[in-house]
Amino acid sequence: MKQVYLDHNATTPVRKEVLDAMQPFFSHEYGNASSVHSKGRAARKAVEEARELVGNAVGTESADIVFTSGGTESDNFAIKGVAMANVDKGRHVITSEIEHPAVMDCCRFIEEELGFEVTRIPVDKYGMVDPDRLKDSVRKDTVLISIMFANNEVGTIQPIKEIAEIAGKNGVYFHTDAVQALGKEKIDVEDLGIDLCSFSAHKLNGPKGIGGLYVRKGVKLVPFHSGGVHEGKRRAGTLNVPGIVGFGKAIEIACKDMQGSDKHMRKLTERLLAGLNKELKEIYLNGHPDRRLSNTLNISFRHVEGESLILNFDLKGICASTGSACMSGSLERSHVLAAMGVQPDLSQGSIRFSFGYGNTEEDVDYCLTEIPPIVKRLREMSPLC
Ligand code: PLP
Repeated sequence: MKQVYLDHNATTPVRKEVLDAMQPFFSHEYGNASSVHSKGRAARKAVEEARELVGNAVGTESADIVFTSGGTESDNFAIKGVAMANVDKGRHVITSEIEHPAVMDCCRFIEEELGFEVTRIPVDKYGMVDPDRLKDSVRKDTVLISIMFANNEVGTIQPIKEIAEIAGKNGVYFHTDAVQALGKEKIDVEDLGIDLCSFSAHKLNGPKGIGGLYVRKGVKLVPFHSGGVHEGKRRAGTLNVPGIVGFGKAIEIACKDMQGSDKHMRKLTERLLAGLNKELKEIYLNGHPDRRLSNTLNISFRHVEGESLILNFDLKGICASTGSACMSGSLERSHVLAAMGVQPDLSQGSIRFSFGYGNTEEDVDYCLTEIPPIVKRLREMSPLC
């Protein structure tokens, strides 16, 4: 049976070039990057080369990149680290209603454990934060604004430059979770005015368990891990050298042909949407019509349950998801769609198709052969009809 993987916002396969680049650092260049001998120096050299690649990809110097275990840790480090280091200035943080759980739960933590107040900015029907609304929420005691670059469920891209300007004018740090945007959208942290930016390698055909945090020089934040002087005393722990090398290679490849890949992704998502619209009634696109990640297509199918769709798609070899990866498996309503005002029955029948490297027009055509009959059959059986 044909397999079509359309869940790249959950995770991506590691590219062969990335695996090849990592391999020597498991088998013979296994040195600890902190050791002074030749094996240690070889590992350190590879780490610094990868740091340079990550820094270059986001428009900054390598020294401003701290390697972490992934997006979740980077978000924790940024939010809790800034909150703890700046309590003398205030205990107020601004975020949005559609953040990834890694950000949402950190905000809840600083509220419950550190006595912070958190303002959660609503979004419009496309999942877009209104910068004017955000501006009105800034207070004298605001220490951080954390708004994601692009949403993982619906792909909407936020007005990052405008938000950063508001933060900058008010002397507030600006963090953005760019886990879904890295490798898909141009990110220039200096030009955009970003102070802290979270990344993860496994969303761009790199390995799992490695990511990074950009920290602009001068940003005050408390280190999260204690136990050594690694990463300029900002993140203790022996470096994951193969992972870091893989991250560097993955980002290098992703940046080389970002435009070509963007064009290809847009063509595929548009083809799928147009084909489904032709075959099926009452399907609705969630997310911004064009200010959206080109690989992401979130569609509500009225009168069907998302979970039933996923299981039936899977029987035909099509891998997609309901909501975010972390929400899959629970029947909880997507907080993102709820914040966008999507009616409960429509959010229950929402599916995220996220395309990536390796997907082809044939994949889309296979989906267009298999998906409409599944939807029609489930609708016929559905008590929701
Ligand atoms: N932030 C966003 C927007 C994500 O989509 C994800 C992963 O789904 C994360 C953070 C967490 O990243 P990681 O899986 O590397 O911890």
